[in-house]
Amino acid sequence: MAESKVELRNVSLVYFDPHAEITALKDLSLAVAAREFVSIVGPSGCGKSTLLSLIAGMLPPSSGEVLIDSQPVKGTSQKVGYMLQQDYLFEWRSILDNALLGIELRRMRTPETVARVRRILAAYGLSGFERHRPNQLSGGMRQRVALVRTLAVNPEVLLLDEPFSALDYQTRLTLGAEIGTILRQEHKTVIMVTHDIAEAIALSDRVVVLTGRPGTVKSEYHIHLSGGPPATVAARKSPEFPQYFNRIWKELDPYVESTG
Ligand code: ADP
Repeated sequence: MAESKVELRNVSLVYFDPHAEITALKDLSLAVAAREFVSIVGPSGCGKSTLLSLIAGMLPPSSGEVLIDSQPVKGTSQKVGYMLQQDYLFEWRSILDNALLGIELRRMRTPETVARVRRILAAYGLSGFERHRPNQLSGGMRQRVALVRTLAVNPEVLLLDEPFSALDYQTRLTLGAEIGTILRQEHKTVIMVTHDIAEAIALSDRVVVLTGRPGTVKSEYHIHLSGGPPATVAARKSPEFPQYFNRIWKELDPYVESTG
C-alpha cells in the first residue's frame, strides 16, 4: 500500500482542566492516503474537532503519534490548511485582504501572490467583490472567501470542520458539491468533520464513524456511488446512497438521545 499522507497511530488525548481530566480520544488509529477525501462522523463531544487540532499540530497527542508524510507533526505547518465552521473574516478588511491573510502572515505578499489570489477568487465566483466588505456578502460567498484564504497558501492537506453547517440547506448542497469537486481537481487530501451523514457520503471516498467519548474508530465505509462523480447531485441519487445512509445512521442512532 502507498505511504499514507496523514496517519494517527494509537493516539490518545487527555484534556486537563482545573476540575477534571477529560479523555477526548483513546487509542485512535487512522491512515489517510494522499488525495483521499475522508469524512469523520460521530456523536457530538466524541473528539472530532480534537482530532483535527492534532493533525493541524495545534495540540500534541497525550500518547501515540501523528504523522504527515511519515514525519511526526511538530506544531503547525504550511502543508496543512484548516477551515472552521465560522468563516472568521475580518469585517474591516476587504474580501481581497481577507483572502490574503494567510499569505501576509507568512510574509509572502508579492504582486505574484496577490495576482494568484485574485485568480482563485475569480475561480470561486468572487470576481468583482475584491473590494467589498464581508458583511456585503451572503453566507455562502463568505464561506468561499474563507476557503480561498485557506487554499491561497497551497496546503496539501485540508482540514474542514463543519464547513457548511452555518449555511442554509440549498446553499449547503450547491456549495458542498462545488467545493468537493474543486478539491478533488486540485488533488488535495481532505479530512472533513461533519454532522451531516448525507454530506459525508456525497463528498467522500471514505466515511469514518467514531464511537462516543472517548472517541476511537468504530467503523468505516468506502463509498462507491454509481450515479455520478463524487460530490455531485447525481451522486446523491445513486441507488447505493440510501444504503450507506441507513447503515451509518444506525451506527450513530444509539447516541442520538444521550447527546442531543
Ligand atoms: P466534537 O468535535 O466531536 O464535538 P471535541 O473534540 O470538540 O468534540 O471535544 C471532545 C471532548 O473534549 C468534549 O467532551 C469537550 O467538552 C472536551 N474538550 C474539548 N476541548 C477542551 C478543552 N480545551 N478543555 C477541556 N475539555 C475540552
